[in-house]
Amino acid sequence: MAYHFGMDFSRPDNARRINRLKVLSELRKGTCSKAELSRRLDINKVSIGEICQKMIEEKLIVETGREQTMQGRPGTLLSINSRAGRVFSIEEGRAVFSVAVSDLQGRILRYERLPKGDSFQSDIQKLISRMSTGDAVIYGAAIASDLDTEIDLPFPVIRITRAEAEAEAEIARLGDLESFLFISWSDSIAVTIRKNGTLIPLPEFPHIRAQKDGDCICGGKGCLEAAASGRAILRKAGADSYRSLLSKAEYIDTLQSAMRPMAAALSEAVQALSASSVIITGRMAPMPDSIYAYLQTLVSSLLPPRRSDVVIYRSSAGENGAREGAALKALDAFFYHTELLSKLRAIENLSAPFQSGI
Ligand SMILES: [Zn+2]
Repeated sequence: MAYHFGMDFSRPDNARRINRLKVLSELRKGTCSKAELSRRLDINKVSIGEICQKMIEEKLIVETGREQTMQGRPGTLLSINSRAGRVFSIEEGRAVFSVAVSDLQGRILRYERLPKGDSFQSDIQKLISRMSTGDAVIYGAAIASDLDTEIDLPFPVIRITRAEAEAEAEIARLGDLESFLFISWSDSIAVTIRKNGTLIPLPEFPHIRAQKDGDCICGGKGCLEAAASGRAILRKAGADSYRSLLSKAEYIDTLQSAMRPMAAALSEAVQALSASSVIITGRMAPMPDSIYAYLQTLVSSLLPPRRSDVVIYRSSAGENGAREGAALKALDAFFYHTELLSKLRAIENLSAPFQSGI
């Protein structure tokens, strides 16, 4: 079901649909009583009662016990029936891909990874039908990919970059992360920053000049991408996989020397963009603690003293990041309709002074 701004908000069925979405997105944050929903959403108790009753009948929400209260009758707590729906996330790399299915809270229920061959398209279909068990409704999918392969799916789909998906997973786990710089460090380097609650891609970052020479795919010389991308490090080390690169002591020198151009680029970016701190995601994220400490020392030494608060963090979602983040984006787009709600909130805030007569 697609919402757009051509709709007439004065029509009662549209207003009810919006209120349903508001209740769902409030319950996404955690359990809540009807009285509390009415207070938080500024919707009268009768309407909240009707909306919730309908959604309980539709099995979208469930009663999950009583709230703890010092006074009055404790209200029944409601929560999302996370098993009532599913979204898929598809993570596409150059050589492998994975398909994951998640519940309405974005928890990954199953996932499978396969090598990408000629039967890529039909392999995806097979995995999806194998994972589409039970009677849960499938709301849609998100494809996390940096390639532009056409993928046909029998339900609504959004596409995001892997860097974006990984950053979304960190934000969901760790909170707001305003002004954080996310370094998606895998075969290539891709960077995003979160400003005013929005993720902004920074396509120029991998091509910051970070060392004297070294030819880059962009045609430039000395780019960070040429010096420190996962592909470049693997090649320099002569390692056959990230697993061995990041776990064997023999590669420590190669890793350390890749930290110097990275530190140079990070310190530039942190200052230019007023980034608060840095999170490293992607295949390089499992680097040993000693390498993080080394990178931190280098970055701190390049930053002015007033920016000594900048910390380089390891990804919290780890290798689940891209599929977790993609699942959340699919839920945002096709179940919770977060973009529509935030646009409405902006409109409501704009019109609030007029309503109160100021
Ligand atoms: Zn370049």
